[in-house]
Amino acid sequence: MINVNNLTKQFGDNQVLTNITTEVKKGDVVAVIGPSGSGKSTFLRCINGLEEATKGEIIVDDITLTEKTLAQVREKTGMVFQHFHLFPHLKVIDNITFAPIETKGVKKADAEKQAKKLLETVGLSDKANTYPNQLSGGQKQRVAIARSLAMEPEIMLFDEPTSALDPEMVKEVLDVMKQLAHSGMTMVVVTHEMGFAREVADRILFLDEGAVVEETTPHAFFHHPETERAQSFLEKVL
Ligand code: ADP
Ligand code: MG
Repeated sequence: MINVNNLTKQFGDNQVLTNITTEVKKGDVVAVIGPSGSGKSTFLRCINGLEEATKGEIIVDDITLTEKTLAQVREKTGMVFQHFHLFPHLKVIDNITFAPIETKGVKKADAEKQAKKLLETVGLSDKANTYPNQLSGGQKQRVAIARSLAMEPEIMLFDEPTSALDPEMVKEVLDVMKQLAHSGMTMVVVTHEMGFAREVADRILFLDEGAVVEETTPHAFFHHPETERAQSFLEKVL
């Protein structure tokens, strides 16, 4: 579903990603783990074309990412950010129906029907007519996930979706993500939630200084990290 071949990204003189090659199969859940500044967000942003690769190739569902295919690739990838990015002036339901109506030409009634289903999936059926500022962080993030799913992506990219949440709200968001993973969604998740990574991910990608330092199963990563860098990272976070 995603092929990344020798991806290198520079911001000016700063080389942020170096020769990343990896592949994500349909239905896989890949957790991207690594220290702050290691290039995790940039990696995700390159996959959906929010950042342009300096070198290398990104192929999403057999489409090579170029300027020409950017819109097509975007349509296949949903992205959820740390800070929700909901439209504050729109009710929850309108947040969810906005893109399908405006970019895909879905009829309002159909979009609303789908939005209600999605709200049910994320456990927020009663919030359709609420404005974002009346929601808790966990609720906002669940709306953001529903909004992303409304575009019917093939792949969901998550960039630290629980990092901005109060601790008691982390679980409700992780539970929605877990449910999505079990439904067969292809997911790439940047996270500091080691429990989630261990339990839900099929594969761990450990990044350090812009390079893939370990790529392995959760069991191997958490129990027998091979590199000193992964060992010292795990000592700090576990
Ligand atoms: P992480 O998500 O792992 O914390 P990032 O991908 O956000 O890491 O950042 C990796 C490096 O790239 C950092 O040194 C950061 O300062 C730099 N960087 C990220 N985005 C930009 C940008 N738009 N312009 C310049 N430098 C950037
Ligand atoms: Mg980041």
